[in-house]
Amino acid sequence: MSTLIHTEAFNPATGESLGQIPQNTLEDIQYAVSRIRKAQTKWADYSFSKRGKHLRKMQRHLIEHGEEYARIISADNGKTLADAYMTEISSAVIAFDYYIKHSARVLRERRVKGSHIFSFFTRNRLQHVPMGVVGIISPWNYPLAIPMHEILMALMSGNGLLYKAASETQMVGQVIQKIVDAGELPQDLFVQVNVAGRIAGDAFLEAGIDKLFFTGSVPIGKILMKKAAETLTPISLELGGNDPMIVCAEANLKKAVNGAIWAGLSNSGQSCAGVERIYVHRDVYKPFLKLLKKKVEKLRVGHPDHKDTHIGTMTTSRQHDAVRNMLEEAIAQGAIVEAISQIDETTEHALPATILTEVNQEMRVMKEETFGPVIGVMPFKNIEEAIHLANDSDLGLTASIWTKNHRLGRKIATQLEAGVVTINSHLISHGIPNLPWGGFKQSGVGRTHGELGLLEMTEARVIVNDYFPLNKQLYWTPIPGFVYRRWVGFMMMVGGAWSWKLKGLLKLIFGFNRL
Ligand code: NAP
Repeated sequence: MSTLIHTEAFNPATGESLGQIPQNTLEDIQYAVSRIRKAQTKWADYSFSKRGKHLRKMQRHLIEHGEEYARIISADNGKTLADAYMTEISSAVIAFDYYIKHSARVLRERRVKGSHIFSFFTRNRLQHVPMGVVGIISPWNYPLAIPMHEILMALMSGNGLLYKAASETQMVGQVIQKIVDAGELPQDLFVQVNVAGRIAGDAFLEAGIDKLFFTGSVPIGKILMKKAAETLTPISLELGGNDPMIVCAEANLKKAVNGAIWAGLSNSGQSCAGVERIYVHRDVYKPFLKLLKKKVEKLRVGHPDHKDTHIGTMTTSRQHDAVRNMLEEAIAQGAIVEAISQIDETTEHALPATILTEVNQEMRVMKEETFGPVIGVMPFKNIEEAIHLANDSDLGLTASIWTKNHRLGRKIATQLEAGVVTINSHLISHGIPNLPWGGFKQSGVGRTHGELGLLEMTEARVIVNDYFPLNKQLYWTPIPGFVYRRWVGFMMMVGGAWSWKLKGLLKLIFGFNRL
């Protein structure tokens, strides 16, 4: 592969260089796809247990180097070491176990009985066939955990992989390469390329990948879907969220406040499914705000390496500026800064955690994905209003309900337009690998993780074997009139009212033209 040009990786907290990574060309991508395809045909013949043995080696390597790799994630992305270890390393380690143990059960070939009498003589088998070469493009906010799940699903289902990490977190891309190398996979089964995002989509699709798994922003997802339509290449899109949290009157307020801080502010609020809007029942609005204010004002945002830092820094200056603009715009429109965290001003890209009140649904902080440490809080009168406010968005990734009344929680959950609804927690199901992940509305297309994620990595093939003992089926051309009439009689008996069943029976026996 060409290695003439390099991209440089920087620590967002200090601006210092972390290293240089060779950049690839469009020709590299074309060539990579043909090489992956060759390796994949062999890999597809491996049994699930043989594939699992390779993945187990990767998992061991990750466990042994867990803290070292968490430090690299922290330096490359700006989150704290603890955050990096808990939400990225642990999530990936746990995911290995699930996919190694359960892929065979989900994807193995199985017999499927025909559902009706005319299929009595068929023996049917359902296979889940690997797509071939799967392209994975991932973002910088969870630069290890997100792509690792997809890499594991793709490998266990027999695919080869073309992978691109986000430009901002190329050092984590190198970590992923080391983990994959430790698996001693067949040569060329996994190829990582470093190309700029703006050319990656066209390049991947034009090189002939068989499936694209994209995680990132809504606008790029739309561009990729349009491009994929040219070749009807299947595409899974895991896109943005603007996730609401509903705090009911009988909620455990301490837990709700702690949950909001974790799910809304950790990773500097740069979580696709982070809490962005909080709707609180008016009876508990004041005590909830008081508790939230007390906790947020004690938080310290700053350099992820400093011992007393609770929340690290934003990953990119683009995101830092976008969030600050949204915040300033909301304040100019009447929002009040209810609480603000402490901040180490010397850390680059650090934004204080900020709680806004006096917000409304028209402000961009409430209407759009903020993707930063800013949360708007609004009171609501009754549950109907809370559901309406929560659903009032083009996005529908996740949502949460906080209540001690679990029955009420489940009732509200069924009315929320979101791919994941959590009761008394938020965000956690991304780390439960057997649960599908994905959103309603513009939050995406398809699902990743778990059984549905594994199925997304495969095509379904049905093999139908006909054991009908005679030379001709009743419905094969030419169809004699007496057969046709009896056939109609039989259909009338299948699902009609009793009077129709009787007419059908007469037609079946006597073959009347009309009744
Ligand atoms: P982004 O700008 O869409 O970038 C995501 C990835 O796509 C990066 O690798 C980027 O490469 C690449 N890319 C950019 N333009 C592309 C193009 N035209 N064709 C193909 N690839 C392209 O998103 P982001 O700002 O990095 O990530 C934040 C967004 O991701 C948020 O909206 C967040 O909610 C969403 N997200 C969703 C989930 C989920 O599970 N639903 C999870 C995490 C994040 P470069 O870095 O080289 O530009």
